[in-house]
Amino acid sequence: MTTVPFPAATITGYPRIGRRRELKKALEAYWAGRSTREELESAAADLQLATYRRLVELGLGAQDSSLPAAFPLYDQVLDTTVALGAVPSRFADLADAEGRLDLDASFVLARGDAGRAPLELTKWFDTNYHYLVPEIGPRTPFRATADRLVADVRRAAAHGFTVRPVLVGPASFLLLAKADDDAPAGFDPLQRLPELLPVYAELLQELAAAGADWVQLEEPALVADQHVPAEQLASAVWDAYTALTAVAGRPQLFVTTSYGSPGPLLHPLACSGVEALHLDLVKGATPAPEELEFFRGEDSAVLVAGAVDGHNVWRADLAGGLDRLAELARGGAQVSVASSTSLFHVPHDVAEETRLDPQLRSWLAFADQKVGEIVTLARGLAAGAEAVAGQLAEAAEARRTRQDAAGVRDAAVRERAGSLTAADIERADAAVRRAAQEGRSFTASGPLPPLPTTTTGSFPQTAEVRAARARHRAGALTDAEYDAFLREEIERVVRLQEELGLDVLVHGEAERNDMVQYFAEHLDGFATTVHGWVQSYGSRCTRPSILWGDVSRQGEGLRGEAFTVPWIRHAQSLTDRPVKGMLTGPVTILAWSFVRDDQPLGETANQVALALRDEVADLEAAGIGIIQVDEPALRELLPLRRADQPAYLGWSVDAFRLATSGVRDETQIHTHLCYSEFGEVVGAIDGLDADVTSIEAARSRMEVLTDLEAAGFSRGIGPGVWDIHSPRVPSQEEIEQLLERALEHVPARTLWVNPDCGLKTRGYEETKASLEHLVAAARTARERV
Ligand code: GLN
Ligand code: ZN
Repeated sequence: MTTVPFPAATITGYPRIGRRRELKKALEAYWAGRSTREELESAAADLQLATYRRLVELGLGAQDSSLPAAFPLYDQVLDTTVALGAVPSRFADLADAEGRLDLDASFVLARGDAGRAPLELTKWFDTNYHYLVPEIGPRTPFRATADRLVADVRRAAAHGFTVRPVLVGPASFLLLAKADDDAPAGFDPLQRLPELLPVYAELLQELAAAGADWVQLEEPALVADQHVPAEQLASAVWDAYTALTAVAGRPQLFVTTSYGSPGPLLHPLACSGVEALHLDLVKGATPAPEELEFFRGEDSAVLVAGAVDGHNVWRADLAGGLDRLAELARGGAQVSVASSTSLFHVPHDVAEETRLDPQLRSWLAFADQKVGEIVTLARGLAAGAEAVAGQLAEAAEARRTRQDAAGVRDAAVRERAGSLTAADIERADAAVRRAAQEGRSFTASGPLPPLPTTTTGSFPQTAEVRAARARHRAGALTDAEYDAFLREEIERVVRLQEELGLDVLVHGEAERNDMVQYFAEHLDGFATTVHGWVQSYGSRCTRPSILWGDVSRQGEGLRGEAFTVPWIRHAQSLTDRPVKGMLTGPVTILAWSFVRDDQPLGETANQVALALRDEVADLEAAGIGIIQVDEPALRELLPLRRADQPAYLGWSVDAFRLATSGVRDETQIHTHLCYSEFGEVVGAIDGLDADVTSIEAARSRMEVLTDLEAAGFSRGIGPGVWDIHSPRVPSQEEIEQLLERALEHVPARTLWVNPDCGLKTRGYEETKASLEHLVAAARTARERV
């Protein structure tokens, strides 16, 4: 084994989509048949080299293994699946004679093909990234497939860079996997760990032979509570890493544990013989003195301190960080400095945001700035704080101006949030409200029929809508012209819904570029970026807004001005049928933004909730009797440790209630959640106290209703009857069957009929056909109840 010291400064990963989203463009061109595989590969290779050059420019070493070679074209878990040759049985035909998947085959796993659904996409820990879930059964083959990893190492070497290949580690790989369809009941992918280790061993040997001094194995699943008890996990981890460290001819091993603390798994990880262990010091805990013991002494692992937040955009407290690092070093640990998580959760470079207020910009650190912070901390740790006094002072000054800046703390907002009482999150009893709502004529069209039909909000965002928005942004359409365009679009959508015979209409959300950014653009305390894209999955990126200050609606006075009301009122003015007002909930706004880190999230959530409460009140006053507040991200922020979940669910549910409890009994509050597995949040969904909740249910064929029924959920419920994730049009009979199944679990008086989610990514053709079937099926079902 080579013994090259672990670099003093490193990052665990970097944005891979490119400063100008080059990878996104290259991938989409290739998938669309507009470029060749060689062109894609060469764009990807260029991006790798450009990244290395940039990182070296920013102060990382070119040849000390500080550069992670982590450049998945689609997803890092998919790349590990491919590297392990863990070909899911339903994709077995794609493997070559040696059982390996090439790049095109891996894209089929990622995107599906005519006859096959892709691997399932699931949330990556408590982030807004989504990974492809490996499918492992008792007979899934494992075979080392190192060619891409080796090619990356060699290409880098040819340009003078000694890089550190990255793989998902064996424990996390199996913990992130799900049992495949052929697996017998009770099968757990973790059972395959002993068979997987030799494959890792072979990959490690091949990488060492290719010149990698260090390999990074990511074990983020070890910071989350898992279905297996901690002791069992501890012995699995011990077995895995003592086996890997015993491999002859291996590179040195660097294990990362981002997104939290490994807790009791720290011991087996640190003492297994791995040469370096990363701890997330931002989300996780600083090791206690007795834990520092694991890092003491010549042969112990290097403690790679994830001191700079890879998951948020604020400039670090460098002086404080340096003190903590020095403390760890004084405790006897050999300390290197790193990011807490891969930097792919943040955009590339704040210097690109020339339209951002310069003061706000001075408070921010995107990936490139964070690399600088890490380099500074490492230098300070080696040479003393004096050596980096200038940088420490600058960082301190930025934090000071941030603390005192106008807008960061708004006395009126704080006073309002500070004087809330329990009554502000209480509505009348749900039964009282239901009685008030059931007899109500929301509009002149009379009371709603049983099994009312509706949609979850957005209608197709057509090329024309997007073009008009782009032209407005570019100044080619005046405000008045754009406004007129949107009003016509709303009218079209209203007429279509009338023709289709839907009962509760929506305005279609054509004015919203994005369900969070649109709100950020209309609330004080938020900023939006121009280039701040981060990968959500595959080639898909989002541009999170930055919540930097106290939140209230823009405009005069504490309560500011309504911004959704004009659109929704316009829609309502066009029709007799009730139009549902549509808002994004406080937790979702937080989850899909970069949020200030200088106060508890619950406080920030309450400010957002109060702004929404004002909007809800204005909608009600404008005659809107049904108001939906979407919380698709409620589960996303759920803490990874069960012990932390009740506190989170407490504040997040309260924030939703704060936004929605200011209305009269007869005003009907809806919410929409984007998923169908509730698990630990099922109680919280009831706690939201919404009158009607729409959820995803078509794909699971209403299975989710069993959970809700078991939890005693008795409110209005709209289980989706149309899976909107594909262009497929469900037949009327199919929807009738789903409704029949739903009626086995839900009384007719509380059942609503709607699609799984918004229609903005769908085309009009399938939208019309599917909604026709939906309305017809609801009518048939109505006759039977
Ligand atoms: N109202 C939103 C829409 O229909 C909800 C989207 C979502 O849940 N992600 O588009
Ligand atoms: Zn949804």
